[in-house]
Amino acid sequence: MSDAFETFPRIGLGWDLHHMQAGRPCLLAGLRLECPVGPAGHSDGDAVLHAITDAVLGAAGLPDLGTLFPDTDPQWQDASSERFLHAALERAAGLGLRIVSADVVLVCDRPKVAPHRDALRKQLARQLDLPLDRVNLKGKTTEGTRTEECIEATAVVLMMLVPRAGPS
Ligand code: MG
Repeated sequence: MSDAFETFPRIGLGWDLHHMQAGRPCLLAGLRLECPVGPAGHSDGDAVLHAITDAVLGAAGLPDLGTLFPDTDPQWQDASSERFLHAALERAAGLGLRIVSADVVLVCDRPKVAPHRDALRKQLARQLDLPLDRVNLKGKTTEGTRTEECIEATAVVLMMLVPRAGPS
């Protein structure tokens, strides 16, 4: 059914949290950073990609990450989160939706985000196949408010309906 709002942009919001654990690879936005701690999790624990994936699924009106890729399913053990993101983008594309911008806030004490911000942003833009000026990422610290070390990511994405080619 079509309606007057069909071509309006759609906003998606995603959020993720992982404990940080000594000796785990520190993967953020698909980039491995040098850090003594990394996100614990069933998959690679990439909180940035998990938040963006849920934002894409949310904007597209699809089930969330945990529903599509349950952590009880052994096939997702240590899975690369890039697979989740690309699967979500493909599902959205199947509905005629493509991502046009993304913004992320990352909260953690380790690693420090600022020295890696440009590299993370470039990596995200590459993952989303977007120009750099439509992808952003900001790092914040917990200000010592957490009793356990963790990493938290919040993402918003904007998605647009790609006009279908009409008969020529
Ligand atoms: Mg997660």
